[in-house]
Amino acid sequence: MNTKLIDFIKQLYGTNEFIPLHAPTFSGNENKYVTETINSTFVSSVGAFVTRFEKDIEEYTGTAKAVAVVNGTAALHTALYMSGVKQGDLVITQSLTFVATCNALYHMGAEPVFVDVSKTSLGLSPIALAEFLENNANLNCDGVCVYTNTKQVIRAVMPMHTFGHPVELDEILRVCNKWNLVLIEDAAESLGSFYKGVHTGTVGEFGALSFNGNKIITTGGGGMVLCKSVKAGERTKHVTTTSKVPHPYEFFHDEPGFNYRMPNLNAALGCAQMESLEKFLVSKRDLAMQYKSFFKGTDFQFVDEPAYAHSNFWLNSVICPDVSSRDELITATNQSGVMTRPIWQLMHKLPMFTDSKRGDLYYSEFIEKRLVNLPSSPIGT
Ligand SMILES: *Cc1c(COP(=O)(O)O)cnc(C)c1O
Repeated sequence: MNTKLIDFIKQLYGTNEFIPLHAPTFSGNENKYVTETINSTFVSSVGAFVTRFEKDIEEYTGTAKAVAVVNGTAALHTALYMSGVKQGDLVITQSLTFVATCNALYHMGAEPVFVDVSKTSLGLSPIALAEFLENNANLNCDGVCVYTNTKQVIRAVMPMHTFGHPVELDEILRVCNKWNLVLIEDAAESLGSFYKGVHTGTVGEFGALSFNGNKIITTGGGGMVLCKSVKAGERTKHVTTTSKVPHPYEFFHDEPGFNYRMPNLNAALGCAQMESLEKFLVSKRDLAMQYKSFFKGTDFQFVDEPAYAHSNFWLNSVICPDVSSRDELITATNQSGVMTRPIWQLMHKLPMFTDSKRGDLYYSEFIEKRLVNLPSSPIGT
């Protein structure tokens, strides 16, 4: 398997040199737009490219309002603040995620509660979520969802669309509505991924995108808050802009604010990258289908998009039969200059979250031990 896989990947990328997991591609107007911002002197947080980038994302995703921020973690932090998450609250998420999901809620003073992922999406399982709430929560006389043991408020549910594969949003939303929980989507990995024709990050009250260097498009560093209503979007813009009330010279700030605005310099890169998004998506889907046919009939299972979804195939991944074949695959590929990685260590095993509340995490554990990410940069773009 390993030698065949290494040869296959080298052939796909047509090179014997090092093959990274995911590298950015700048083949469009990136230079032109970035140079324009420098020549205009509007490199900072006000500028035409910020407005244009927000409009581009609004049009592409169909969200009511998109607010550009400095990175994906800041987008999540802002979304949690906007959702009314308070010190001591609980937020339900998955243990199988990148640490940024949990960092954002930790810095709101909230605690993560981990429930299992679904084996098909690798994201939050609506069944595990419903079961956890039935066993551990109740609605108090004000209709607020509380954790029965400690009486802490469970404020929100934050699923993550792992590697761009959408979670079962209808079912998760139904559970959220039943328990009066705010749905916030960590869509950092899923720009270009659709759930039943609807863009990920637009079903919940808020969604967060990331434009870090390894994501499907990049602004160097950057993120976007997707807001379900124009009104929430306007307030989101306001709080990311130090909550300053517009005035020609007075400094008045009407609530605690963030300085999270995306600089125009980064937004210029984002506008150019958006022009290439469709091309990236086509190329990545083609690459995914090649991996899929390579693994067909082996005991290595390629992670395909769920039947209800159209994924961006941001990072391709394969589930190995066991831990030792996983370790052998990772060692062999990396030694041959083909970069592969295991999935993140589960969040409840990190020192800051070891005491976290959680449900049964059978599939999270199963996937943690077996999944490998494969080189996924778009080819020929
Ligand atoms: C990339 C990522 C983020 C945010 O990342 P930033 O580096 O802060 O832009 C958040 N959650 C997940 C799951 C991610 O993959």
